Amino acid sequence: MPELLEALRQVTETSAFAGGPFVERFETDFAAFCRTRHALGVGSGTDALWLSLLALGVGPGDEVITVPNGFMATAEAISFCGARPVFVDIDERTYTMDPALLEAAITPRTQAIIPVHIFGQMADMNPILAIAHRHGVPVVEDASQAHGAEYRGRRAGSLGAAGCFGFDPGKNLGAFGEAGAVTTDEPELRAKIQVLFDHGQATKQLHSIIGWNARMDGIQAAVLSVKLRRLEAANASRGSHGRLYDQLLAHEPRVIRPWVAPLNTHVFHIYAVRVRDRDGVLQRAAARGVNCAVHYPVPIHLQKAYSFLELGAGSFPVAERCAREFLSLPMYPELTTEQIQFVAETLKESLRD
Ligand SMILES: *Cc1c(COP(=O)(O)O)cnc(C)c1O
Repeated sequence: MPELLEALRQVTETSAFAGGPFVERFETDFAAFCRTRHALGVGSGTDALWLSLLALGVGPGDEVITVPNGFMATAEAISFCGARPVFVDIDERTYTMDPALLEAAITPRTQAIIPVHIFGQMADMNPILAIAHRHGVPVVEDASQAHGAEYRGRRAGSLGAAGCFGFDPGKNLGAFGEAGAVTTDEPELRAKIQVLFDHGQATKQLHSIIGWNARMDGIQAAVLSVKLRRLEAANASRGSHGRLYDQLLAHEPRVIRPWVAPLNTHVFHIYAVRVRDRDGVLQRAAARGVNCAVHYPVPIHLQKAYSFLELGAGSFPVAERCAREFLSLPMYPELTTEQIQFVAETLKESLRD
């Protein structure tokens, strides 16, 4: 905490509130962490997705492929480019985009593919990138739940044309409010996003395109630079909490535990199990003092906002079944062994009634 207060003091003293040296420093630190050439601080994870798609030229009449079981932001970013979200179902074990279903969803209008690294585990990127490459379509990683996660030794955000991260306070790396970042190895994409998030100014007072205000605050950058130094340790704690939950629930046949694909490092943004009668279990656990959550009860294609896509129930059976069964157990670095044991015991009791 003293380090965070000191960071806030420095920003206040230098009045570097919008953009400036603290943002630049965080960008350097975060690019190093993700092992990419560039990182750009933006206003939120939603901004990161939207600006990346705009910079890749996504616009009206285009289609962008993603999954139906993520957070609304991914589809919103597509819609705010004027494009249409096209969903492909998920793999039942990893809950990420099923590469076997991807190719059939590609059309001549497909302008980008956004796999979502859900709950802290990266999507199966190699086949996704191979299919995308064959069709000349860029891949944008939604890495907002996977800061520091790895796929075959590669960090989240370093495999696609762009990686999009949100840092709202609930994420593995959380700011003191709203913030986000785009990672990329491509200098051209970086330059385009930099112009877009600063009102379309490539040179001060000269607006070459119609942009937007989506810059990162200096205060958020200073806070994030301090917290980034502790992220590896925090992710390691989440990992060991995940292994303890796994052990404690290993002999409980009514619980489907998270599955970590070989060569993946899961950072357990969320530890989601699957159970039958999920809403009943949720209520009984709450009555015993354990508050679980659900990510996410209604898949995106079944939200009212997307009813115009006319994708009814049954369109994506795996995502829909998982959405009925997902139950997120408490997961944060500060959890103690006793708390985890209590949660696991409570879950088992709640399954029995
Ligand atoms: C949080 C989140 C976002 C959006 O990030 P914000 O910073 O809240 O705008 C996008 N995608 C996923 C999967 C997320 O979890």
